[in-house]
Amino acid sequence: MGKNKEVLIVGAGLGSLASALRLSYSGYKVKIIEKQNTAGGRLNFIKQDGFTFDVGPSFFSMSYEFVELFKSIGEPIPFELNELNPLYTVNIAGSDKVFQIYKDLDKLAEEFKGIEDNLEAKIRKYLKGAKEIFHDTEYKVVKKNFDSILGFIMSMATVPIKHLPKLFRTFWQELERHFESEEVKIISSLVAFFLGATPFNTPSVYNLLNYTELEHDGYWNVKGGMYKIVEGILGLLEKKNVEILYNTEITSVSHKNGILTSLHDANGNEYKADVYIVNADAAWFRGKFLKRPKFTEEKLDKMEWTLAPFTMYLGVNGKIPGIHHHNYFLGDNFRDYADTIFRSTVAPKKPYYYVNVASKSNPECAPEGCENLFILCPVPDLRIKPNWDDAEDLVDEILEDLSERVNFDIKNNILTKVVYTPEKWRDMFNLYKGSGLGLAHGLNQIGAFRPSNKDEELNNLYYVGASTTPGTGLPIVVIGSKLIHERIIHEHPTV
Ligand SMILES: Cc1cc2nc3c(=O)[nH]c(=O)nc-3n(C[C@H](O)[C@H](O)[C@H](O)COP(=O)(O)OP(=O)(O)OC[C@H]3O[C@@H](n4cnc5c(N)ncnc54)[C@H](O)[C@@H]3O)c2cc1C
Repeated sequence: MGKNKEVLIVGAGLGSLASALRLSYSGYKVKIIEKQNTAGGRLNFIKQDGFTFDVGPSFFSMSYEFVELFKSIGEPIPFELNELNPLYTVNIAGSDKVFQIYKDLDKLAEEFKGIEDNLEAKIRKYLKGAKEIFHDTEYKVVKKNFDSILGFIMSMATVPIKHLPKLFRTFWQELERHFESEEVKIISSLVAFFLGATPFNTPSVYNLLNYTELEHDGYWNVKGGMYKIVEGILGLLEKKNVEILYNTEITSVSHKNGILTSLHDANGNEYKADVYIVNADAAWFRGKFLKRPKFTEEKLDKMEWTLAPFTMYLGVNGKIPGIHHHNYFLGDNFRDYADTIFRSTVAPKKPYYYVNVASKSNPECAPEGCENLFILCPVPDLRIKPNWDDAEDLVDEILEDLSERVNFDIKNNILTKVVYTPEKWRDMFNLYKGSGLGLAHGLNQIGAFRPSNKDEELNNLYYVGASTTPGTGLPIVVIGSKLIHERIIHEHPTV
């Protein structure tokens, strides 16, 4: 009997961990090499002074992709999914009303009484269109491997023609066809905005995200904090003897005759396997290590990238009554803000930000009588604002605004504080120019137009994660792991 095929994965983000699970349970011998001292990549945690924080993702849609992952390997889900209800709250500057966003459309319509008439009927009609496009593209665009642009175009051609006009409208224009109030249009745009895209230039097809949020599966987090996902997966990987080498950064690769032959770290160590998977950014890696002309820095800079995260983690003394678990704080100039945030060379004034207070539902995240605040403010990436020496100005700006809006002096009650600028995000996980979610999802950067999950030249090299197919976000990189598993078991079967 021959020996099991060996797989080496660069990086231990969620895409890597999910791929390692599928492959180790299919009989491959898997090893992961990670530059940080923890697994999870952006899905990570900070523990400091008695507080625990989720570092990046704080909730997700399409929870059934996690269900499918564990079902596919015949294991029970090793963490507890928790559905959000309400989904989140929205505070708009100048209004005393805090909007609670419910999946229950009756209740949602009640929230907007006097602001948007007949919301329930309007939203049902809007969601019907969004639902159709979601289900008509799910298996033709998202959950499919593509080997050529022609194959992708042929697959797109089978999407019903009635969706065609949606390719030529923007996300915002679609909302304008259904709703009158600025409040409903702005709130319905947040799903795109906080994914790092403005609704004014994002194609209208992405309104399907509102269907996933409001009707299809809602939003979920994990009991005890998001890092339970990583801990749960690590427990299963241990059972399958998957080795993870931490504090080791791959700095060069060798290849010969269309085959990747080894990886090298900064200390000159060499790592060999039959099959390699890269979980570092798929576009950046091709440029930096494989020197591909399509992915030089100049070419990467011309691609569209999602906004960079500016994040703060605050342990606060006292309970803050005016805030919930998931909150958006917006100004009163949405269109101007969304138009300029991608191009602005300075930190935003009157920033728009998201606040997650996990201690509202997970008391173990903070000492008694305290709250843990994770604040995310999307900002321009490092191509546009390369220097963050002025980070404290943005911290002050946000804290002043938030303290006023929740009527609680946050600044003078901080017990612990960590700030990650886009530079820090870039350096921690090799995120290109600090872009938080990787390559954007314009129509020119999806499917066969996105860096492929199979290398163009090296027959034993695959990619998984945010900047390859199908795209970014936790459930989407889990789908990505399924797609490369499909490829690898066919192209490099093990014994
Ligand atoms: C602030 C923030 C908030 C977010 N919120 C959400 C959310 O609420 N919901 C949601 O669904 N998604 C969210 N996302 C997106 C989500 O985090 C990502 O889409 C997903 O985690 C990407 O996973 P990945 O597989 O690409 O791996 P990554 O997380 O990118 O991990 C890649 C790993 O590779 C390692 N690595 C890179 N280069 C090397 C090298 N040369 N050698 C060794 N190791 C290397 C890195 O250190 C890292 O650990 C958020 C992202 C950010 C930044």
